Formats: sequence, C-alpha cells, structure tokens
Amino acid sequence: MCDGSNNLSRRDMMRLGATGVAAASVANLPVRADEKAEAGKLPKRRYGRTGLEIGWLVGASDWTKELIPKAVSAGVNYWHKAQAWNANSLPAALKNQPRESYYLECVVDRVNGGHERGQIDEEQHYQFVKSRVKASGVGYYDVFKFHFGYHSVEEAKQNPGMVRAFERLKKEGLVKHLAISQHHYNNIKGDMAWEIMHYLADNRPYEATQFFHTFGDRKEVEEWIEVAKKKDIGTIAMKTMGGVGRAAQDQKFQKLLADPKYQGSTPAAAMIKWLQSNENLTAAVIATKNFDQLHENMGAATSLAMGPQDHATLALLSGYNKGLTCLLCAECVSHCPEHISIADIFRYERYGRDYLDLDRARSEYAALTRNGTSCVGCGDCLPACVQEIDIPTKLKDVHRLLG
Ligand code: SF4
Ligand code: SF4
Repeated sequence: MCDGSNNLSRRDMMRLGATGVAAASVANLPVRADEKAEAGKLPKRRYGRTGLEIGWLVGASDWTKELIPKAVSAGVNYWHKAQAWNANSLPAALKNQPRESYYLECVVDRVNGGHERGQIDEEQHYQFVKSRVKASGVGYYDVFKFHFGYHSVEEAKQNPGMVRAFERLKKEGLVKHLAISQHHYNNIKGDMAWEIMHYLADNRPYEATQFFHTFGDRKEVEEWIEVAKKKDIGTIAMKTMGGVGRAAQDQKFQKLLADPKYQGSTPAAAMIKWLQSNENLTAAVIATKNFDQLHENMGAATSLAMGPQDHATLALLSGYNKGLTCLLCAECVSHCPEHISIADIFRYERYGRDYLDLDRARSEYAALTRNGTSCVGCGDCLPACVQEIDIPTKLKDVHRLLG
C-alpha cells in the first residue's frame, strides 16, 4: 500500500510508538462540535466566489494511483494540477464518477522562461488549456489557475492576457472559474503575494487564491485570509509543512517528542489541525506521498479540534525550526545586494529535506540563474530573518545538497 520509494520517516515516527500518532489515539481525540462533519469524511468549505464546496484537503495529480481512490472515498473532491492527466492516466476513481461530483483544476504557467522570466501570452494560454481539455477528455476544468501569479500589482494592472484567455475559454464552456496561485516577487523588484492578492480581489475577476502559509507566518498572510473571507475569495494554503519531514528524521527531536505531554500528536497532525482551526481558510495542500501520510492527514483533518498536546507539539516544532527551517516569508530577499532568490532556494531545500523529493529539488535548483554560490557573505540579509537562520552558511549547505 505504501509508496516504497518515498517511505518517509513520518511513518517511521509512527512506528516509534511513543512519538507516533497511531490511528487509535487520533480517533480518541475530541470531536469538534461546530464542524458537523460526517464521521470519516473530510469537511467541506466554500471555495469563495467559485461557490464550489471543496474538501478541506486538496488532492494532487502527482499522488500515487493507490492513494487516489482512498482519497476520493475519504472526501477529497478538488484536484490540483489536473492538467497533467490525459484520457489514459485520469484515475478510474474519478472517471467512473459523475463529472459534477469532483473538481479539476488546470494550472497555467507563463511561457518562454519559467515563473520569473516567462511571459503572459493570451493565445498560448488559451491553446494550452484547450489542448488539455481535449487530451484528457474531461469536458471542462472547474478552475483555471494562473500558476505562480503576477510579478507585481503593476503587471496585474497592465497585462490582461491571463484573464482574457480565461474569459475566452469560459465562453466556450471549457473552464468555469478563475483562481491564482500567488508567489512573492520581491527578489525581482516585484511585490509580495498579499499585495497582489489584495489588488486582484477588488479589480480583477479572480474568485480564489493559493499562497504559502504555515505556523509562525507573517501577520500579513493571516490578514489576507481574513480579508479574503469577507470578500468571498477562496483561500488555499500551500507549503504548509515547514520542518515536519526533517523533524521526523531527527532522533533528538523524536526523543523530545516522546514526552507524555505530546502523546497522541505529531507535528503533521498538529499543523493540519492548527490550519483547520482557522475557519476563514478554505483548504490546504499537504504533500502526501504514501498511505500512512494520507491516513494521518485525514485523521487530523476529520472533525478533530486541537488539543493541548497539539499546541505543545507545534511549540516544540517551532523551537526546532528556529535557526534551521525557512518559513518562505521572503522578508530577507529584498535585503540581498546580489539578488539571490533566498526563499526559492530554501523552498527547494524543503522539497529535498521535508518531502524527500531530491529529483524535483535538484531540477528546480539547476534552473536558477543565481544560486547559493552567488552569496558574498555580506550578512545584509541576516537582521531580516525571523527564523534567525545563518543564511550564508545555509546557502552553502543547500548548494552541497542540490548543486
Ligand atoms: S549574505 Fe549572501 S544571501 Fe545574505 S545578503 Fe549577503 S549576498 Fe545576499
Ligand atoms: S531565510 Fe528567514 S527571512 Fe528569509 S524567507 Fe526564510 S524565514 Fe524568511
């Protein structure tokens, strides 16, 4: 049942017993009174102006074929990056259901150069989605999502190409809703994600947003989630599991976690419950590689309130992450005279160290024009880091891992 190639240590953590979150102990945690979720089923929330009621955990097309039917029966009904499926690879667990019972999201990238150097090109985006609808046989995508988003508010004002491509496709019945996955672009003199999303909410027809969000995040992200709820804009958190994978592989962390005050909790389960406790947040993308992780995530996401042990576990993780794990806030980036994409480099580190996906991490790292070797050690970035990370040293370390 497990994906052997990604036999992540969260399962090992569970196997350690004293520190793990066995299914039975999760089931014994208190049921949240206000959630009214059907037992064993994922709670659903309204995805902003799209009006779609989506499962709180978002599925992804790169999940293994064994996981997908289990996720579907547990209530996962929104599928991220669904454009990767064609008519043959579209999972039977979806294909055999009525089309309106699940939601497929097509992510649309810039062309000719990746998310920093690539361009918005209405015709190419239009043709791309049209060709994916045809190749997949799905009839339509529920959500057209601008992947990585605008570089700045100015670009969102000046360049209507992505919106026009969506509108043409919508007229033809090939897509239904418009969303954006927004990154920070202060490394290329652009704007922060929340600045761009605030602009879009009032000025462009975007109905939903996706952005980085984890425990200990900047207040601007929390503020965006609150504003988005008031304006009926959907919100999906991504890159949520900072440090969870590496903590699970760290014997010292495991020993600390064996203390009875953490019993019945794990960093992953505590993080999921913490995210879910924000009722303004629609849903979350959680990297899921195998059945044990799916089981653990579903257990945490299904009708469970945070208990004292979860608060304690998050505090432990937070202390562990200090000086070690980047939260991807990008605060340091604009201080770097060498214009190094520090947060992107540490995001790739996360793929390698937390998700154990070194191939992806190395391939993304290789595409950078300025990597960790461009650091001159000036230290200008250091005062900006809320995590007190020794950024130049870490850049060298990550280069050894990914370079
Ligand atoms: S120490 Fe390195 S990463 Fe930090 S500001 Fe200087 S050049 Fe940039
Ligand atoms: S290195 Fe520090 S300041 Fe820079 S993105 Fe990471 S957490 Fe934020």
